[in-house]
Amino acid sequence: MKGTLSLGVDIGGTGVKLALVDGRGRIRRLQKFASPTKESPTEFLNIVGRWIRRFVGDRHLKTLRGIGLGVAGDVDHVHGRVRISPNLQWRNIPVKTLLRRYLPSIPFIIENDANAAAWAAYWVETHQRAKNLVCLTLGRGVGGGLVLNGVLYRGATGSAGEIGHMTIDLNGPACPCGSRGCIERYVGARALVERVRQAIEDGEQSLVTELVGNNFQAVTPLVIQQAAQRGDRLAQRIWREAGERLGVALASVVNLFNPERIILAGGVARAGRLILDPARRVMRQRAFPVPGHTVRVSLSQLDQDLGVVGAALLVP
Ligand SMILES: [Zn+2]
Repeated sequence: MKGTLSLGVDIGGTGVKLALVDGRGRIRRLQKFASPTKESPTEFLNIVGRWIRRFVGDRHLKTLRGIGLGVAGDVDHVHGRVRISPNLQWRNIPVKTLLRRYLPSIPFIIENDANAAAWAAYWVETHQRAKNLVCLTLGRGVGGGLVLNGVLYRGATGSAGEIGHMTIDLNGPACPCGSRGCIERYVGARALVERVRQAIEDGEQSLVTELVGNNFQAVTPLVIQQAAQRGDRLAQRIWREAGERLGVALASVVNLFNPERIILAGGVARAGRLILDPARRVMRQRAFPVPGHTVRVSLSQLDQDLGVVGAALLVP
C-alpha cells in the first residue's frame, strides 16, 4: 500500500538535500550532504543513489509514493535527463536511468529546481490560492519557475521560466548561458561579490574590507548585507543597484504574466528590504499600473527548503 510520504531530492552545486515530505508539504525528515562535485556526473549520481537508498531504508521502501528530484539546469522531465547544467557542469546526463536502479520499484520524476521551488511556493505558501505565481531563487545563479492558472508551466521543452536569463542590457556582461546582460549577471551572488571586489580594487573605501579581514575570497552576500546594515555606503549602493535591476526584470515579468504573487528565495533574497524595497519601487514605476500594484512581492518562508519540498510535492 502506498503511503502519504514522498522523497524530495534537491541537487545543487554546493549541497544535496533529501527530505521525506508529507502530502501537505511538511518535512518529516531531512538530511543534507555536500555535493561530490569532484566526481564525474555518473559517480556523483551513484553516490546520491546510495544516500537515497540508505535514507529511505527498509521502513519506507514499501510505502513511499515516489521520488521527486530537482536539479539546477535545463531538465528534460519527460526522459529524465539533464540537458545542461552550467552550475554542475553536466551535459546530457541520464539522471533517471542512473538513479532508478537504487530504488527500481518506486515512481521517479525529475524537474528543474526552480520549477520545483515555484510549486512548493504555490502549494505550501499560498495554499494554492495564488493561481498565477512566479518564484525566483536568487543564489549563485538566478532560477525562475512559473505557476500559471494553478499549473506548473514548463513550456514546449520543459525549459520555461528562466527569468535569470532575461536580458536587461543588450551589451551587458557575458553570462555563462552564452547570452549577455542577463539579470543573473546583476543580482546573482557571484555578480554582487564581483561588483564589491571591483569597487574596492578601484579604490573605494568599504566596511567589507574590515569584515573579511582583507581576504576578498570571503566576501559573500551576507557580508555585503552586514556592511550595508551598518551604514556602509558602497554596500548600500550595491544592494540598491541590484534591487533596481531586479525591479526592471520584475516589471517585465508582471507585464508578461500578471501574477498575484512573486516569491523570492535564496541567499541574495535574504538581504530582505535592502533588495526588496528598490525592486518593488522600480517594478511599480515600470509595470502597467494595475498589475504592478496588484502583485505582492515577498520573501519565501520555506526559503532553502522550497526546492526539496516542491520536488516531493510534484510526485503524482
Ligand atoms: Zn544568461
